Amino acid sequence: MTTPRTATGPAVPRKRRGGRPGGGELLAAAVGAVPGGAARPGQQQMAEAIERSIASGEHLLVQAGTGTGKSLAYLAPALTVDGPVVVSTATLALQSQLVDHDLPRLADAVEPVLGRRPTFAVLKGRHHYLCLARLDNSVEEEPEDTLFDAPRPGGGTKWLGEAGRLGKQMQRLRDWAEKTATGDRDELDPGVDDQVWRSASMPARECVGATRCPFGQECFAEASRARAREADIVVTNHSLLAVDMLAGRHIVPPHKLLVVDEAHELADRVSSAAQAELEPQLIDRSARRARPLLRPELAERLTEAGDALAVGLAEAPAGRLTAGLPPALREACTLLDAATRAALESIGDIKADDPDPVRKQQAKAALDELSTTAQRLLEEADHDVAWVEKPENGSRRALVVAPLSVAGTLATHLYDERTVVATSATLALGGRFDTVARALGLDAPPPAPPSPAAAALATAAAAGRAGTTPPVASADGSRAATGTVPATEGPGWTSLDVGSPFDYARQGILYVAAHLPRPSVSGLPEAAGEELLALVGALGGRTLGLFSSRRAAQQAAELLRARTDLPVLLQGEESLPLLVRRFREERESCLFGVMSLWQGVDVPGDSCQLVVIDRLPFPRPDEPLAAARAAAVDAGGGSGFAAVSVPIAAVRLAQGVGRLIRATGDRGVVAVLDSRLETARGYGPFLRRSLPPFWYTTRPDVARGALERLGKS
Ligand code: SF4
Repeated sequence: MTTPRTATGPAVPRKRRGGRPGGGELLAAAVGAVPGGAARPGQQQMAEAIERSIASGEHLLVQAGTGTGKSLAYLAPALTVDGPVVVSTATLALQSQLVDHDLPRLADAVEPVLGRRPTFAVLKGRHHYLCLARLDNSVEEEPEDTLFDAPRPGGGTKWLGEAGRLGKQMQRLRDWAEKTATGDRDELDPGVDDQVWRSASMPARECVGATRCPFGQECFAEASRARAREADIVVTNHSLLAVDMLAGRHIVPPHKLLVVDEAHELADRVSSAAQAELEPQLIDRSARRARPLLRPELAERLTEAGDALAVGLAEAPAGRLTAGLPPALREACTLLDAATRAALESIGDIKADDPDPVRKQQAKAALDELSTTAQRLLEEADHDVAWVEKPENGSRRALVVAPLSVAGTLATHLYDERTVVATSATLALGGRFDTVARALGLDAPPPAPPSPAAAALATAAAAGRAGTTPPVASADGSRAATGTVPATEGPGWTSLDVGSPFDYARQGILYVAAHLPRPSVSGLPEAAGEELLALVGALGGRTLGLFSSRRAAQQAAELLRARTDLPVLLQGEESLPLLVRRFREERESCLFGVMSLWQGVDVPGDSCQLVVIDRLPFPRPDEPLAAARAAAVDAGGGSGFAAVSVPIAAVRLAQGVGRLIRATGDRGVVAVLDSRLETARGYGPFLRRSLPPFWYTTRPDVARGALERLGKS
């Protein structure tokens, strides 16, 4: 376990000269400005706890359920801090919600109280902005590198049509470049294909820097950074935060308070940012870019290294490389390391009078990255995991390397200079904060074993009130346990669960089909299919099906299409936003899909009154990072399954289950067709304690009865 750093000093609250408002007053103003807005206890509790953290410098983990209004709960106290505050999100959806909705509303509301209008800015990665230098020379790019010759199976007439379509998009992009004030891709409507955008944007590592760039003065990415440096609140994303932290890029302005929203995603995003890979196509592209700057034999060495990698990847089976690099892949990495070093040495430094510094920097950056990755793979360090990726559709093959853990990285880089508030609806796993705290690099004490009485109480609270009369049907007036999790503390940090404004025990049922056999390895077993049909039939559609495999989702869709008249929407058959819109609007429809639906669907109201989960979402054996992390715990004498796989399943399950109740008027049933949630003695209670406190049952007749009544209401 890494030692956490305590903050060097608290984020300094703005002095309250002349009765300057505090966070509570600002929150009250913001809430009061919303028509019908009312104070929410959880929101106030969260805002107060954040004010205390700002004052003390103690880091804070806050679990805040859906509907708490957590963005205002952290934005209001953030305005009391001197100097910029950074808010980081995992998803674009939340970033947009903050920038387009919450922050403008907050600024309007607090301006009279604060005596000035607070400012905010959004900060994204460089590749999100139009690059004028790239746009300027995209017409001159070498033929293989342009969007007009990407290989397409079938080619011919179809390809000419494709080229025309992409060419039109490129022209639209050029026209937009004349008008846009920000160059932000998200403001381009309609958007363009990724391939087109790549031709007009610049990855950070390839940017030559504003001082050397002929377009440095007009650069959109540079302008966004300048705006961020002046703003009170800067909204960014976990990936950019991670890159900034790992590479010391100093893109994010110095700040004393960092709010990490969707914090359950942070460790994974940091891990992705620290991941690197080698692909034959990548080497080929880099070789073509560098060729004009190299002697032919040096360019040829790069091509040979790419060919060697293609051979090594063809020979190696997909999956984790548990016994080190196979000889062919080691040979390819060695060739690549030597070839890239020789090429970089030959190209040399970029000089002030270089005729084309942008293109030279692009070539150098690509070679440098290949060289670093090859060396990292050859090193085979204990703290790294390597694997071969070969998707079933054969789209690409790659040799990938990622860190075994990022807890140490976060401990070293995240907490020193700032106070961190991490928040999410899913931070307490198994009824405690320590698992997530450790993943985030905080020093967390091991849990004390609960007394039998405490364990029984906790399980009952997690499960709601098991019984025979479901609240959805009976309007039973009594309330279940609130389900809030007690605080956990460690050196320099504390935690808080503010619960949820939803009355889960009255609004929803968690039904576990405990009578079903254990789920099979893949696909949807017949008994689970029949159970699904009975549940969906009882309600009459309105079902979100979250499946653990594409095959299971397909089988479920086929079953319903064959045996019912309900409209069934299947992920992959149309774009996801379109499917979600149809699911929301077509009241009887069912939407079935895999992992991206577990977090990405927000459908309040009666279009989604049944959420079905086919099996507990443990990581699959072919998820190399999870497997390597579990193996490392096993090798240290612990249980990798308990320490790695169960927490991953807990976060995923809580996210999936959380799709059901999105508003105070929502009611419905979550049905888990995996009996282990009830029968597994070890992890079953842990997983149930990680979920909102629904009313709990294992009786199919009770679940179906409740659904029938909902269907008629
Ligand atoms: S500085 Fe120049 S090369 Fe870099 S992103 Fe801006 S316009 Fe592009």
